[in-house]
Amino acid sequence: MALVLYDTWSRTVRPFTPLQPEHVGLYGCGPTVYDHAHIGNLRTYVFEDVLRRVLALNGYNVRHVVNITDVGHLVSDADDGEDKMEKGSRRAGESAWLIAERYTQAFMADWRALNLLEPTVWCRATDHLAEQIAFIVDLEHKGYTYPTSDGIYFDTSKQDDYGYLACLDRAGLQAGKRIALGEKRHITDFALWKFSPADVTRQMEWDSPWGRGFPGWHIECSAMAERYLGAWFDIHCGGEDHIAVHHNNEIAQTQARHGTRLANFWMHGHFLTLDAGKMSKSSGDFLRLQSLVDRGVDPLAYRYLCLSAHYRSELRFNDEALAAAQSALDRLRRTYVSWPAGGAADESYLARFAAEVNQDLNLPRALAVMWEMVRSDLPDAARRATLDRFDAVLGLGLADWQPQAVDVPPEIVALAEQRQQARAAKDWARADELRDALRSAGWQIEDSVTGVSIKPVDKAQ
Ligand code: AMP
Ligand code: ZN
Repeated sequence: MALVLYDTWSRTVRPFTPLQPEHVGLYGCGPTVYDHAHIGNLRTYVFEDVLRRVLALNGYNVRHVVNITDVGHLVSDADDGEDKMEKGSRRAGESAWLIAERYTQAFMADWRALNLLEPTVWCRATDHLAEQIAFIVDLEHKGYTYPTSDGIYFDTSKQDDYGYLACLDRAGLQAGKRIALGEKRHITDFALWKFSPADVTRQMEWDSPWGRGFPGWHIECSAMAERYLGAWFDIHCGGEDHIAVHHNNEIAQTQARHGTRLANFWMHGHFLTLDAGKMSKSSGDFLRLQSLVDRGVDPLAYRYLCLSAHYRSELRFNDEALAAAQSALDRLRRTYVSWPAGGAADESYLARFAAEVNQDLNLPRALAVMWEMVRSDLPDAARRATLDRFDAVLGLGLADWQPQAVDVPPEIVALAEQRQQARAAKDWARADELRDALRSAGWQIEDSVTGVSIKPVDKAQ
């Protein structure tokens, strides 16, 4: 079944056809690196990773670009307020550059722990000032900008369809505005370039044709996406919070410069929420991947949890759901390693699985097909080979998983030794009795050419 994806722009699930045969350009808005990513942010990257893997399953060669926002993302979407990086720097008493580097590295470590495929390109906003300035110069020549005392702004009234992505009610917004407009002409206008304040020395600032300052957050993504994928590529992703402002503005800029809406498909992951409500990085009170690891949870159990909900539905995070994901993953891993390699994958299950993931990434249904296959009466080697193919999309790293050495209590070791002695003495009845005693204590003995091993009884069997 051919791949169909939900496109926020058209508000429909529609067939995916790449703009160039066999190649797909994919851009994901990256993190703002003034702090650790929280598990909500990471849900969005798991969704994008699954999308990328499903595109690969369909035979496409994906060029995946992820940016790092290390300057220009202000605490308020209304373009007033501090740069999050400078704020993070003040809080930590360290330079903004150091903070950016630390949290970029931390983000990449989370990325790898979740088994997300390495992007083709990572790009930092601070490495692309020339592209951003050239972009704004072009917008200025085309008549889309105006200056204020604090920066250069994009005039959204120049575009009839500004706000289409978010179905913005511009007239309503303008009429009902509660935020002071300041020198902005329209409520939806946004900063392309901000001047460094006269009384404060910013740590991150650059010269430009308009004066010393720094770029707006939206221009970063338009400029970097264009640099690496062109001004008309296949899919642009982010979390649902980006629809209303950030992505509208990316589209507005690129539309003004090139007449395209930047990407053919705009896809958005829904939020992860806590029972208590929204998870927010700016409040400083959030769960990160390490918080889960500290509780003994495997990062890939969090990945499994993300797969268990459709990316366009809310996922409510709580301890019970996480524990259930961990035990499902444990069961899957133990079952997988118990099967021999060398089989052939089952074509009918592969087709059913592909049909589900191709239906706008229906991973909950794909997981159901997977468990049905795991419990089926296919030969073990065929089940393992089929699971390997599923895992190319699920990304649970099953083939890389090594059973952990388990601490076996001394009394269990003693029983196992007695059983060995009974076997050496050819006392088979006693050996079997001891095997049963071990089993009822929750341990099983496995004799193989390499020796005897003691393992917890596999509850999956
Ligand atoms: P930020 O670092 O704030 O720029 O956000 C990085 C990514 O995480 C963006 O794609 C956001 O849309 C996304 N995001 C933010 N909060 C959440 C959340 N609670 N659940 C899912 N995604 C989120
Ligand atoms: Zn972006």
